[in-house]
Amino acid sequence: MISWDEFYDDPTSLDADASSYGRTGPAKNDAPSSSSLRGPDSATNGATLGSAGLATRTQTDPSAVAAQAAKAEAAKAEKSYSDAIAAARPAYVAEPSTSRNASEAAAEEVNNKIMQQVASQLEDLDVEVAQQEVGEWTERVTVDDKRMINCRADLNQLVPFKYDWAWQKYLDGCANHWMPQEINMNADIALWKSANGLTADERLIVKRNLGFFSTADSLVANNLVLALYRLITNPECRQYILRQAFEEAIHTHAYQYCIESLGMDEGEIFNMYHEIPSVAKKASWGLKYTKELNDPNFTTGTPETDKALLKNLIAFYCCLEGIFFYCGFTQILSMGRRNKMTGTSEQFQYILRDESMHLNFGIDMINQIKIENPHLWDDAMKREATQMILQATQLEIEYARDTMPRGVLGMNAVMMEEYLQFIANRRLVQIGLPEQFKGVKNPFPWMSEIMDLRKEKNFFETRVIEYQTGGALSWD
Ligand code: FE
Repeated sequence: MISWDEFYDDPTSLDADASSYGRTGPAKNDAPSSSSLRGPDSATNGATLGSAGLATRTQTDPSAVAAQAAKAEAAKAEKSYSDAIAAARPAYVAEPSTSRNASEAAAEEVNNKIMQQVASQLEDLDVEVAQQEVGEWTERVTVDDKRMINCRADLNQLVPFKYDWAWQKYLDGCANHWMPQEINMNADIALWKSANGLTADERLIVKRNLGFFSTADSLVANNLVLALYRLITNPECRQYILRQAFEEAIHTHAYQYCIESLGMDEGEIFNMYHEIPSVAKKASWGLKYTKELNDPNFTTGTPETDKALLKNLIAFYCCLEGIFFYCGFTQILSMGRRNKMTGTSEQFQYILRDESMHLNFGIDMINQIKIENPHLWDDAMKREATQMILQATQLEIEYARDTMPRGVLGMNAVMMEEYLQFIANRRLVQIGLPEQFKGVKNPFPWMSEIMDLRKEKNFFETRVIEYQTGGALSWD
């Protein structure tokens, strides 16, 4: 049998019978496909075309019998193809039938009218809309055209990539996909329902953290899709933001899954962010940064509004995801290390891995915006960014005191305060600001280790928790 390329390249194959090839065989570009549109049976079809092609190639062959057989085979496939097309034909293009009754004829008339309307509507389609979408930009986008904010190039052209770190994080996020139902909650349910399974202080920690996190990740998701997305004018960053938004939904799902599994009072838990002061303060602090950008009239393009966007990034990535999550993560993961609430701890461990990447992505965005817009990073902005991180640290210290009135799980509020100051120093340095807490050390070094799940396989000995499907992660 000849190959597709040989067939199409062979001038002798285009003879008087070629009119049938277009229907009995696939188009050249479709050759490797098994699409049903090219014929009723790709295997039969291929054989048919092969024979038909061979027939044409052998027209000069004295063996007329072989040519006749090939023609017969082609005609057979033609009939088979026509039958398949007729069977697949929708009702509104059905062949007229003399046997149909009046209601069928009326239905056909209605269908024909609808089809005429559809055709007419498509004739009126304004193809200029796609042009208006890209505004004044009519060129193909180059790397040099791309910018984090206030970019005028077409944002629907994902490539060429300028910010490889953003695309890589999108790939890494996808490679780390997980779902809350995959984690066994049976041990947690038994422990939570047991009268003496947990102390009152331990129960307080579980409830407060599920209360804070169940709404906090929703606030982050809202900030992403309602405030931030439209203002970040780079397609590869937007691609990661879309992935991050889905991960926030998975996190909210995970908290809901824990709350439901443990049979908690859902109203009490989901309302903590405006009923419990230490939780409400953190939520309110973040929300005020969403509110400014959420205004439909808000747009970037002036130093003042560009700084407002930068502050939103610092608030949500450095402070909310980078500080507000750390007391709760430490408390719940500490429980898991003590073989308590292991399912909940495992959920939090997956979430922490995602959150570490959200944080690093946000820091990369902030630093890239600073590089491209150095005028925004003036002394006033540096002072404000520092104050924001210090405010967030103080709110998280208050949360630690509220959730740990006494020592519990080998930790206490004083140790947590030092840990949060250690974390705050890191956040400051990550965006180019000096440390504010001199000489503080990390009292929980195991938290750094736990973020790298590849080092901590089977940490809770519940299941293989290495979920990565591809890519290579590195954690700083
Ligand atoms: Fe997040």
